[in-house]
Amino acid sequence: MHCTVHRGALKHLRISLPALFALFLIALSALPARLQDLRYKPDPHASENMTLLLKDYDPKSMLHTAVHETPRARFPVIDVHNHVNDPYGDGEKIPPAEVVRRMDAANVQKIVILTGMWGDKLQSVIDKMVKPYPDRFIVFTQMDWSKIDNSNFSAEMVAQLDDAVRRGARGLKVLKDLGLGVKDRSGQFIAVDDPRLDPIWEECGRLGIPVAIHTSDPEAFFTPLDRHNERYEELNENPAWNFSAPQFRGKARLLAERNHVIEKHPHTTFIALHVANWPENLDAVSDWLNKFPNMYVEFGAREAELGRQPRRARKFFLDYQDRILFGTDSEPQEQMYANYFRWLETPDEYFPYAGYPGQGRWMIYGMELPDSVLEKVYRGNAEKIFAQFQGTH
Ligand SMILES: [Zn+2]
Repeated sequence: MHCTVHRGALKHLRISLPALFALFLIALSALPARLQDLRYKPDPHASENMTLLLKDYDPKSMLHTAVHETPRARFPVIDVHNHVNDPYGDGEKIPPAEVVRRMDAANVQKIVILTGMWGDKLQSVIDKMVKPYPDRFIVFTQMDWSKIDNSNFSAEMVAQLDDAVRRGARGLKVLKDLGLGVKDRSGQFIAVDDPRLDPIWEECGRLGIPVAIHTSDPEAFFTPLDRHNERYEELNENPAWNFSAPQFRGKARLLAERNHVIEKHPHTTFIALHVANWPENLDAVSDWLNKFPNMYVEFGAREAELGRQPRRARKFFLDYQDRILFGTDSEPQEQMYANYFRWLETPDEYFPYAGYPGQGRWMIYGMELPDSVLEKVYRGNAEKIFAQFQGTH
């Protein structure tokens, strides 16, 4: 009985399956246009359906590629562009021992605190950071632009610089406010190559301390905030960073003024911060490095720019391996450092830069730099510059 029923069921299937398949084929042949629609024709309502806001769009990459986590740098690192616990910014203060713990975890040997100010404020950061950890922190001093209208401004600033170096400062930091913010009583912006500053640049050369100079900003900051601006979200969040208005001098002019200073003071070492502030144009930066032997660059907060052009950037690192310094311009966090090391050391594909998507909606690619280049960029080039110090006398 059992066997008969089973056979009956099979017999039933033998009849119905081909019949179903035939029906399916008939249906298929009757609907050729409809299938074509599914495959080729875009939805005519696509534009209306596009209601997702840019701020909510957060696509996840479906790529399956190798990930090389890089929590520690392959060689000890000097981060030449940092602001941790400086007296200038209003950033959150981190207990110095905690900063050192994070540095140890990432293999960061030294941090350079650029914005150390001058006088008592400089003294406070030296007392708090350098004295307890003399091998771990270096502090730079700054100019006091509030004195720009004093008749003896140049001499006052040279004296302030000498005092700062006696206190322990080992470099001069110049923020982008020179060129984009500082004005004298005439109401005009001070040019970066204003002759009143010449004695300051010369004194840095005499003391053997580098000038870390930030001039202008990303190219997109000098273009209107419209739908073509590749840093739309960043500028929307920070409208004060948009210098496209006519009252500001243009980027090309600012960079030309800075280069004029570098050319005019060949015995002073200049670290042109943020890849000389034209990482969007590495051909131009290469020309400048060829032209000015006293110019170095640093790549703080420009990982996103260099990381999105990995082939050109890698060539740049190989060509100028003796002139590039490691810098981050970011709060010292283990995760941030790991991201920079992954970018410099590994061949990883298409991953977010530190701080993504703050600077723009693109990914970066690892450069897999050779050990000999890594060692110089991480530490060697910075050590060479700090060895130029002439002492206090
Ligand atoms: Zn900075």
